[in-house]
Amino acid sequence: MEEETKKIIQESLDALYEKKEFLPDLTDGVRTQAFNSLSAIISTPNNIHKSFLRVPREDGTIERIPAYRVQHNDSLGPYKGGIRFYEGVNEEEVVNLAFLMTLKNALHQVPFGGGKGGIVINPRNYSEKELNIVSRKYVRYFADVIGPDKDIPAPDMGSGEREMDWMMAEYKKIHHGKPYLGSFTGKSVVNGGSLGRREATGKGVYFTFRYMIHDYVLAHKEQLENSINPFSKTALAHAERPLKMAVQGFGNVGSVAALEAYHCRSLNNQVIAVSDRNVTLFNEDGLDIPSLVAFTSSNRGDLPKDEAELDKSGIQAEIRGRDELLTLPVDVLFLAALEDQIHQGNMEHIQAKIIVEGANAPTTRVADEYLDNQGVIIIPDILANAGGVIVSYLEWLQGRETQYHEESEVFRLLLEKMQETMDTILPQYFGDPYPLRENCFIHAVQRLSTVLHKQGKLY
Ligand code: NAD
Repeated sequence: MEEETKKIIQESLDALYEKKEFLPDLTDGVRTQAFNSLSAIISTPNNIHKSFLRVPREDGTIERIPAYRVQHNDSLGPYKGGIRFYEGVNEEEVVNLAFLMTLKNALHQVPFGGGKGGIVINPRNYSEKELNIVSRKYVRYFADVIGPDKDIPAPDMGSGEREMDWMMAEYKKIHHGKPYLGSFTGKSVVNGGSLGRREATGKGVYFTFRYMIHDYVLAHKEQLENSINPFSKTALAHAERPLKMAVQGFGNVGSVAALEAYHCRSLNNQVIAVSDRNVTLFNEDGLDIPSLVAFTSSNRGDLPKDEAELDKSGIQAEIRGRDELLTLPVDVLFLAALEDQIHQGNMEHIQAKIIVEGANAPTTRVADEYLDNQGVIIIPDILANAGGVIVSYLEWLQGRETQYHEESEVFRLLLEKMQETMDTILPQYFGDPYPLRENCFIHAVQRLSTVLHKQGKLY
């Protein structure tokens, strides 16, 4: 696990150690020992599974592709987390992401633990037939450690419902006659998926921003006006006026968050820039997001990347350098692409006063601290991007009962859950000087630690 992640865990545990009302029956040496146990348990995963998937390519060559399944902690329920199809994925990254899943589920009270998978490929370089083999081999190699009550994968970067459908089919074949619908989430609806799963993360990301900066702030205006917390000032300054927004990444998460912002007319917000792996598109008067979504869906997911494609799309925009988006003069920046996007090298040029983390870990720790000190509100991944896992949980439940909700019901349950979490976190956040990420981590570690204590694991 990365040193930075270990530091965050230790800081949360240190804060809880001082809180005498937390696990009050643990005192003196026993308390110290229990916290040492907590630190050891949380900062290491339970299992790291690694395999090399043997895949015959269509050109006759054979590849052995590294693949991981990391199971961080299952004290709160079966391991749960996506499988990333990405050429840059490595063991340490998967471990960190699995840890983040444990805390995310703890924070939102989803009865799952934390896991994550990774396959080291660039899916764009593989044919559909080859990807099918890769997906099935992944299941075959990890068949004994995954399953509806053990470890439930889902899509992540580079994978989607097509891969989950293939994977579930392979799981069903291997575990013939056993329950299989809950073995993977993020499946297509005809194959046992939940309505609304595809949009869940992006919807949740936008909702978190809207509820926190608009609904919550207006409902607690007086409390925030009297608060000495610098973040309260930032929130109040942005609650009642139209905001300019930029969205980095226009995939599953970013495109839906952008669409939500576009349709949220009641707030008069404008999405003036979006970017993907190739370009930034900019329009000071607001981009036509529905047309961009329509274009990307017929262009292998990519935004128009040159003047010819832009003309073809009929969209009014300027093409700018991919990373220019991050430093544009906007109020709100949604990060929905990759990790480590705001770092020491660009943090001083960030103009947004609110950053919403749709991607996992898009802000480095140094940049995080720097921006916190500037009073910038960073709505962290653990809070903002949990929509996917919440609806995955609903999919898993629906699969158990083979009773499916209407889409509107799925969204109602999703937003209700996210609001519940925020109603627990925000009063404290606006009342004390700690950044939101720290607040969320402390809450999540507190829940996990309580369960570990009750399960008699802190010896
Ligand atoms: P995706 O593959 O659908 O989309 C990724 C987007 O980012 C694409 O538009 C791609 O072109 C763009 N991109 C890649 N490199 C970029 C760069 N350097 N600059 C700008 N854009 C770039 O992936 P996704 O499912 O939307 O996931 C995005 C992030 O959100 C990932 O970090 C993922 O782990 C996280 N996340 C996803 C979900 C989910 O349900 N999909 C849930 C939680 C977290």
